[in-house]
Amino acid sequence: MSAQGPDLQATRIVILGGGPGGYEAALVARRLGAEVTVVERQGLGGSAVLTDVVPSKTLIAAAEWMTSTERAAGLGIRFGVPRTGADAAETTVPGISVDLAAVNQRVMALAAAQSADIRARLDREGVVTILGEGRLDGPRRVVVRPAGGGDDVALDADAVLVSVGATPRELPGSPADGERILTWTQLYALQELPEKLIVVGSGVTGAEFAGAYNALGVDVTLVSSRDRVLPGEDADAAELLEGVFRSRGMTVLSRSRAAGAERTADGVAVTLADGRVVEGSHVLVAVGAIPSTRGIGLEEAGVTLAPSGHVVVDKVARTTARGVYAAGDCTGVLPLASVAAMQGRIAMQHVLGDAVRPIRVQDVAANIFTSPEIATVGKSEVALQAAGSKYVTATLPLSRNPRAKMLGMRDGFVKLFAHPEASVVLGGVVVAPRASELIFPITLAVSHRLTVDDVAEAFTVYPSLSGSIAEVARMLHHPVD
Ligand SMILES: Cc1cc2nc3c(=O)[nH]c(=O)nc-3n(C[C@H](O)[C@H](O)[C@H](O)COP(=O)(O)OP(=O)(O)OC[C@H]3O[C@@H](n4cnc5c(N)ncnc54)[C@H](O)[C@@H]3O)c2cc1C
Repeated sequence: MSAQGPDLQATRIVILGGGPGGYEAALVARRLGAEVTVVERQGLGGSAVLTDVVPSKTLIAAAEWMTSTERAAGLGIRFGVPRTGADAAETTVPGISVDLAAVNQRVMALAAAQSADIRARLDREGVVTILGEGRLDGPRRVVVRPAGGGDDVALDADAVLVSVGATPRELPGSPADGERILTWTQLYALQELPEKLIVVGSGVTGAEFAGAYNALGVDVTLVSSRDRVLPGEDADAAELLEGVFRSRGMTVLSRSRAAGAERTADGVAVTLADGRVVEGSHVLVAVGAIPSTRGIGLEEAGVTLAPSGHVVVDKVARTTARGVYAAGDCTGVLPLASVAAMQGRIAMQHVLGDAVRPIRVQDVAANIFTSPEIATVGKSEVALQAAGSKYVTATLPLSRNPRAKMLGMRDGFVKLFAHPEASVVLGGVVVAPRASELIFPITLAVSHRLTVDDVAEAFTVYPSLSGSIAEVARMLHHPVD
């Protein structure tokens, strides 16, 4: 912990980038009494709100509605059947179709409203916002080219937070054109569902969009360079999801690296590294992101960048330049809005002398918003094996959970990892509809070093999906010798 400058009221903080890394930091810094200016070139909320998290999860909400209707027939629900005893013409449930223009209009309206809310909150808290392109001029000065034109503005700072995020990586030689060759930021301009969507990249972003468009009724081909979708995620979860994707009619091309994409007379052709060509109406390129760290004076200010372009930071978000902090996707710690926000808050607590708990990435809960969702927290099985750690594990399929049976849910499971002697919960995986809501008890267990018995002894509602979490914990109980 350290405080820079004896008078906190006088501490001037300039934040470059108004995404979750930046705006959360701004709020904390104001609360701690600093003068705060946020420089943002696009809009408050950053990519998280305007093009990434909020739009994708809003689109996925529409897709989720479609996948939940899959269970209807099993529950005895029939579509298009008149209700008994009523006038059939007025009460027949219509067939379902997706109006993508309406879905996307809602997506963009929600993103804009969220951005406006953040702007209003920052204004209320007394944070100064400057719209424009910023760059460092040494470690203690930010120069802004205002969005509306006019002279550059120089802002002197006692500390600078760099939270400039990242932009979509494109296929070499195949720039996105916003019409047929698309990045995830360009999807929301589509007025009609694509006839045949090729999704290149089977990481989290590729899997989420492939699943969503498939559920909305689009013929989707997912091009994956690896053996299975979601490489790096829990293998059982990824295998289950790939099976669900295939069962919904998605084509998954494994071990197929995309080399390039080009427009054809009425669509696109994606060429694979082995020479095969996949044709479609549109291609979504989801092959990762490039940190927006080049050309903004970072290295000149003494900030070390990794070869990937990410800012090198420590656990309290300090860079190699004194007084310069960095948070979020530009650091490459973990590309999650929650992590960006936490790093931003920690940076401000550190620079302004408040109590700081260094970031613990092993406690981060994450979710993949596919159907079913995949939520994880703590150590993964791959990490435990790689570290040679001792662990025990147990899994319960969702199909054995009474509430899941009543709801007609089949695909999913709950899995826990625990230490074999101390019984401490080391990590967990939940694959289920709304797994993002179910992971929290496991997150509490991992964060607070609870044992499987602590988890098992807590009451769960009967019947409930979370009952499976306690049940798996009971399966890992270590009997007293
Ligand atoms: C499709 C998709 C879905 C996602 N879904 C989730 C999810 O569900 N949950 C989750 O936790 N994470 C999700 N993420 C990740 C999440 O979007 C990022 O981790 C998060 O946006 C990082 O926040 P940030 O503040 O670092 O950057 P950003 O949100 O990218 O904000 C950075 C801001 O800095 C601005 N900027 C950059 N350079 C300059 C400059 N020179 N001058 C002025 N301004 C500048 C940019 O305009 C941008 O607005 C998703 C990502 C993608 C791509």
